[in-house]
Amino acid sequence: MTTLPTVHRRGLMLVLSSPSGAGKTTIARQLLERDSAIAMSVSATTRSPRPGEVDGRDYHFISVERYHRMVADKEFLEHARVFDNFYGTPRGPVEAALAGGKDVLFDIDWQGTQQLAENARHDLVSVFVLPPSVAELERRLRGRAQDSAEVVAKRMAKAGDEMSHWREYDYIVVNNDVERSVASIIAILTAERLKRDRQVGMSDFVSALRGD
Ligand code: 5GP
Repeated sequence: MTTLPTVHRRGLMLVLSSPSGAGKTTIARQLLERDSAIAMSVSATTRSPRPGEVDGRDYHFISVERYHRMVADKEFLEHARVFDNFYGTPRGPVEAALAGGKDVLFDIDWQGTQQLAENARHDLVSVFVLPPSVAELERRLRGRAQDSAEVVAKRMAKAGDEMSHWREYDYIVVNNDVERSVASIIAILTAERLKRDRQVGMSDFVSALRGD
């Protein structure tokens, strides 16, 4: 029996963006649980940890000085100021995961997504998650007890600005129900993984099938 050339998949970068309170973090967590081919990109931030957040798992919590040094040393794949803090995606772990055949999940804002689109459009799949209603968005922001009323009001005001960027994304998911949203994103991933350009070696595989 002839052995056919192997086809392997090029890893993709799956970005999830949304205004705070749309339920993106819960969706991201479930995607990671259900699909072992996905690695999460852990961002660096200059904001303080919230109760329950673990350094190295939720974020790398760094000083403003360190952030600026990392920017200068080109250690970030993308970086942006969001609200009053700085955020960035360390380049090394993402490149290692992609090289290892994994897909990488990013929880970043529209500014970071634009930077990834400029630098790596073909590897990028972007999804914007919207809350189902203003009432639900408000409820979720108030439910996050760690944040002060002032922070909540500020984020509510910012949500409109964030949402104005929905057209820059490949897919839009309205998060009426977490289960359904996760299923939708798994469907997006399944289709995107099958895209012709992501199937490295397909040309040789088909040639061999045709007996060329
Ligand atoms: P939070 O402080 O609530 O965890 O995140 C605030 C916002 O910053 C969210 O919209 C989140 O997606 C965004 N964010 C988190 N990490 C990064 C990052 O590395 N780069 C960019 N551009 N945005 C980020």
